[in-house]
Amino acid sequence: MSKPIKKIILILILITILPVVFFTSLQVTSLNNDEKIISDIYKNQLESILFSVNQYSEDLVNSWLKNIETVLSGNKTEADLKKEFKMFFNQTTAVKEIFISDSSFSDQLTVKNINKVPELYSQNEGMLKIANDNRTLLNRLYKYYNSGFQKIEPLQSSNQNIQYLMFIFEGKKFCIAGIDKGIFIRQNLSSKIQGIAKDQFMAVVYDSVTNSKIYENETADLNRIQQREKIWLIPGYKLGILLKGRTIEGLVNERLYTNLISIVGLLLLMIVVGWYGYRNIKKEIELAQIKSDFVSNVSHELRTPLALISMFAETLEMNRVKSEVKKQEYYGIISHESNRLSRIVNSILSFSQIEAGKKKYNFAEVNLNDVVSKIFETYNYHLANKGFAFRFEPSNDLPEVKGDGEAISEAVINLIDNAVKYSGENKQVFVRTKNENGFIVIEVEDRGIGISKPDQQKIFDKFYRASKGLVHNTKGTGLGLTLVKHIVDAHKGKIELQSETGKGSSFRLLFPIKNL
Ligand code: ADP
Repeated sequence: MSKPIKKIILILILITILPVVFFTSLQVTSLNNDEKIISDIYKNQLESILFSVNQYSEDLVNSWLKNIETVLSGNKTEADLKKEFKMFFNQTTAVKEIFISDSSFSDQLTVKNINKVPELYSQNEGMLKIANDNRTLLNRLYKYYNSGFQKIEPLQSSNQNIQYLMFIFEGKKFCIAGIDKGIFIRQNLSSKIQGIAKDQFMAVVYDSVTNSKIYENETADLNRIQQREKIWLIPGYKLGILLKGRTIEGLVNERLYTNLISIVGLLLLMIVVGWYGYRNIKKEIELAQIKSDFVSNVSHELRTPLALISMFAETLEMNRVKSEVKKQEYYGIISHESNRLSRIVNSILSFSQIEAGKKKYNFAEVNLNDVVSKIFETYNYHLANKGFAFRFEPSNDLPEVKGDGEAISEAVINLIDNAVKYSGENKQVFVRTKNENGFIVIEVEDRGIGISKPDQQKIFDKFYRASKGLVHNTKGTGLGLTLVKHIVDAHKGKIELQSETGKGSSFRLLFPIKNL
């Protein structure tokens, strides 16, 4: 690979692939960061929702505590107490039992909610046992209370449905309230949960041991819950929450995939563009190289006949040649070389006309046997002199066709010229005309050096010359076959080439009979 091409590849890699790779890695890292930031924000949001539900439940119980204090304040008769507790239980159906006692258990009161009807008791063995079991906790609650903090503590209990809550009551006493867990969640907390969840979240309260659902604002799958938190007052229950519809991870992943797909698409596009750019630049470089070769080839092509013409003309002019035979030979050389010169100049002119789109063809009825036999007559003597076996095998059945006789003649001369130039030691050239499957074929065959497979693709390109072997020493412009192709195309024909290196080549020009 040549140096400039290597450079182009490097530059293309630098300007196409590198930015894409850089951009991709930047995207992936930024996506990871985005994902983390979004998840953190989201997690915090869920946590604060869970926190606010818990906070609300404490506030609620605190408000009940205030109500109980109001009911018990002052000296009330049992009937009055019952009346007021009835009202309290009517509003607060979740509270099933209230036990109030001093720390020595000498002054006790138990109020039970039996179907919203209060029953009062002065002795409650069950509650005494619970209070005794939780002595240490009670002492701690007193300590909190004395330092100004009213804390409500849930107690462990074997009762599945009732949650006991213990708190300090009016400074000296304490209270244990038995609360129906289900009613508390469904009647007291549900509206708060619903208010927070709105249409964005699914919230579910469930038993953390049995996984049975106590409440849900919408049917939710426990396995999909994104954030969960113990309900402070009912530690056996958990409140779980999840985003409706797509999850944050889903959204982030979706973005990740779309970004990755667009990056891959972009990369492919850039590779295609890069490849296209590379091909074009490579072509331009090759063309520039070929053009500079062309200039030196043409100079050489012109110089050789000119030198011969001037040498033999001078010799003749000075009358140095006495023998008539020699003179005729020199005239012959001058005439042949000037023909060669005019052919080179003509082919360059034709080529420049083609390039400028100005090449004109004059179509008329022609017999291609006539065209080829004229060429054969002109070249036969000269080629025989050069030691060539030159044969023309015309077809007997060749209809007259419409074509530009001169242009076709130019194409055939170019092929014969090449056959001669690239024949090497095996000097045989055959020209044939044929009538084949709706085409008139002119075939020029040699037994020369042949053309390699890769070169066969390129020899019709302008200025292209195969760069191996004999071609090195044989000068040419690289325009001959370009002209041939153009002429055949103008006749809507085809060129077929069969060639093998070392064995020779056969060029076939096919002119469609109908279109001619
Ligand atoms: P030129 O002959 O002036 O180099 P052409 O366009 O006529 O240019 O041919 C292009 C190339 O094709 C030649 O340089 C040669 O390498 C190859 N070529 C053409 N004809 C033959 C042939 N008959 N045998 C071998 N090689 C050929």
